[in-house]
Amino acid sequence: MMIKAKLTTARITRLRRVLLQWYGQHRRQLPWRATDSRGRVDPYHVLVSEAMLQQTQVVTVVDYFNRFVDRLPTVRALATADEQVVLRLWQGLGYYRRAQHLHAAAKMIVDEFDARVPSSVDQLMRLAGIGQYSAGAIASIAYGRASPILDGNVARVLARWLAIEQSIDAPKVRDRLWQVAQQLVPPSRPGDFNQALMELGQLVCTPKRPQCKTCPVANQCRAYKDDSANRLPLRTPRRAPQQVFHHIVAIHRGDKYLLEQRGAKGLWSQMWQIPTAEQASASQLTQWVKDHFGLTVTRPRKVKTFGHQTSHRTIKFVLWCSCVQAGRLRRGSGLWRRLDAMDDLPFANPQHRALKLLHDAVQTP
Ligand code: SF4
Repeated sequence: MMIKAKLTTARITRLRRVLLQWYGQHRRQLPWRATDSRGRVDPYHVLVSEAMLQQTQVVTVVDYFNRFVDRLPTVRALATADEQVVLRLWQGLGYYRRAQHLHAAAKMIVDEFDARVPSSVDQLMRLAGIGQYSAGAIASIAYGRASPILDGNVARVLARWLAIEQSIDAPKVRDRLWQVAQQLVPPSRPGDFNQALMELGQLVCTPKRPQCKTCPVANQCRAYKDDSANRLPLRTPRRAPQQVFHHIVAIHRGDKYLLEQRGAKGLWSQMWQIPTAEQASASQLTQWVKDHFGLTVTRPRKVKTFGHQTSHRTIKFVLWCSCVQAGRLRRGSGLWRRLDAMDDLPFANPQHRALKLLHDAVQTP
């Protein structure tokens, strides 16, 4: 039997009571939790926060969230915003696909749901970027629907609480955890309960060194009883990330630098960047520039190297600098900007870093 402890009604009731009590005392004041005079949260705020919180810590999200809803206060404002504005507001938060999905979701909400964030899990899951977890979170937090959630935090808490001795990445275990989450979510205050579970995972039942001694559910936690909290949950080992080199070639003509926009698909799509060769080797860069931009440039000089980790790849960026000798920029392949005049364009984190390094290199004689 995968789950040793039986989920009796008494056990479920006790967990709900204890967790909601704990949440009442320890919940963090977060901007997307603000309520109106009738005690309701803004579903649009919940939608934006859930998009931002995927793969990102609460403390990082707060400032981004405030800036975002300040500039785009309604779902209609987001739907009609230029994508470059949305990406610019997201700049630094990473996983930019989330911003594009959120933008697409807002358009669909305006077109098909009269600019109201839908309340049912099924309708929410029709929106771009909304999976079962986000749909459950929005439906429960914004509309009080008793829909379960299962993110990394909740899976860890439940796997320990039930002392599951199988990998929580296994589809069967995942399915079972969803069933457990469904059994646990109460008909009354489901949003608070779900947030309590997530908050417990973020603040107490942390991946390393869980704070079992101060945990409100310790006396019904199997892992605490078995002294296995530090060992659980079990995970399936991931493949080592692939290592690749990307060459960033800063090409200048006078005091202006060439920028290009990434394509509509793939990593960092539609973001701007200093021309970056992802396939060419260092010795091919001059030819690469000629082929892509129609420019003849001086032999690139190495400025700096730095690393960047994505979920599947370890990227080593090499920043080069070179100067235009001849040729005209091929139409539509890029634009020239001064280093101090790029604030309106969205750049992904590594490119932002490259721009800073370039700026420092230019300042240093
Ligand atoms: Fe997690 Fe420890 Fe609490 Fe169990 S007692 S839920 S392992 S923090």
